[in-house]
Amino acid sequence: MALPLEREEIQHQTEELEVIIAAHLAWFKHINQALVYGSAPSPADLAEDAHLRSPFGQWYYSRAPHDLEENAEFSQLGALQQAMHAAAREALLDSREGRHPRPEVYDRCIDLALRLNTALRRMQLEIIGELLATDSLTGCASRRGMLGKLREEQERALRIQRPCCLGLLDFDRFKRINDELGHPAGDAVLRQGMKFVASALRKYDSVYRYGGEEFLLCLPGTPLNDAALVVERIREGLERLPIRLPSGELHRVTASFGLVEMSPHRPVEEAIANADIALLRAKEKGRNRVELWR
Ligand code: GH3
Ligand code: MG
Ligand code: MG
Repeated sequence: MALPLEREEIQHQTEELEVIIAAHLAWFKHINQALVYGSAPSPADLAEDAHLRSPFGQWYYSRAPHDLEENAEFSQLGALQQAMHAAAREALLDSREGRHPRPEVYDRCIDLALRLNTALRRMQLEIIGELLATDSLTGCASRRGMLGKLREEQERALRIQRPCCLGLLDFDRFKRINDELGHPAGDAVLRQGMKFVASALRKYDSVYRYGGEEFLLCLPGTPLNDAALVVERIREGLERLPIRLPSGELHRVTASFGLVEMSPHRPVEEAIANADIALLRAKEKGRNRVELWR
């Protein structure tokens, strides 16, 4: 499982889009001044490659993150902006020597400019949504939207007739780590521990930060016995994982797990509650172990 885009990167991209939107609106005002009352147009707007010269063009063709390039909306954005500049150029050429641009050319330019503004805002909202859906400390999915996504997995499991398991992971004696080594050490454990867990899972698995030091794993297409092997491997890996603390020292941690197979016709909340009962049993039996709910 790959962790989502880094939070800082997402933040940077939303801010960059804000600057581009502001520049687009300034351009929109300027082009209207040129077309409506004949103020001098910018030479860049009369150039064939006007779409490359604007702040949007510089971002889109050189700085935009590669993750976005596969996004269908992102490629439409480029076509939209290029068409807008072509229409603006045509309207500017129309309106030389005090003439008015043809209405259909002017309208096309305005419509495309407004559509570009909407599309940029939508992309920015999507990026902010991604920011909210990610836990900033561990990079795991946040609890926001978790139940909805788990219900989708449950429906999919029913459709393809393959079981889906849920696991709760809870770090052992975590309060002690904070108390004895400090809160930043606790944070380092969560960050590095969960980076390991995410790397040990398959592409279609997902991890949510369920509570403070408690995480929910979703393992689609996996019957309980197979899921138990996967989670047992993760438990062993965590136990052996050297965690580098802010002090430079290495530290070891363990975690306990409760595992359940989701029933296709019972609420997801019930499966989580059952995983929690199994987790409690793992703690009672001495921690650093996996317990199954049957
Ligand atoms: P057990 O083995 O029974 O799970 O014991 P525990 O100490 O892990 O459990 P307990 O629930 O008593 O303590 C959990 C602690 O996790 C308490 C809380 O301060 C800490 N914690 C929660 N979120 C964070 C976080 O983001 N960073 C750090 N450093 N600590 C956190
Ligand atoms: Mg704990
Ligand atoms: Mg806990």
